[in-house]
Amino acid sequence: MKEILIQRAKEIAGSFKLNGFEFNSAGTVAAALVTKDGNVYTGICIDVACSMGFCAEHAAIAEMLKNRETQIEMVVALTDKGNIIPPCGRCREFLFQVDRRNIDTKVIVSETEILPLKELLPKTWADVF
Ligand SMILES: [Zn+2]
Repeated sequence: MKEILIQRAKEIAGSFKLNGFEFNSAGTVAAALVTKDGNVYTGICIDVACSMGFCAEHAAIAEMLKNRETQIEMVVALTDKGNIIPPCGRCREFLFQVDRRNIDTKVIVSETEILPLKELLPKTWADVF
């Protein structure tokens, strides 16, 4: 599954300008995830002025939620140059808040390493509830 997710993300990665502004773009990062039910969803980031936009993982999760799925088995994000990157802190939290069971999601953090989300997000605010 790791190689399928990497391939699916690479297929949609590729930065392109938005609205003619130098700093507005999309597709610089792409993400792919597979749910516990075995469905694959993908997304690309959007970066626009005034700090708006969102990460590729957010877009992939939105696609997943459209199908009323929440539990993620594995996820990857990579740049438009094909380099795998770990999720940012906000995305780590987002994965968890979509479904607490995602604390066990396998996160591809490099070509050679897969870590459970709980190792990337060791102390959650929800632990106190
Ligand atoms: Zn992020």
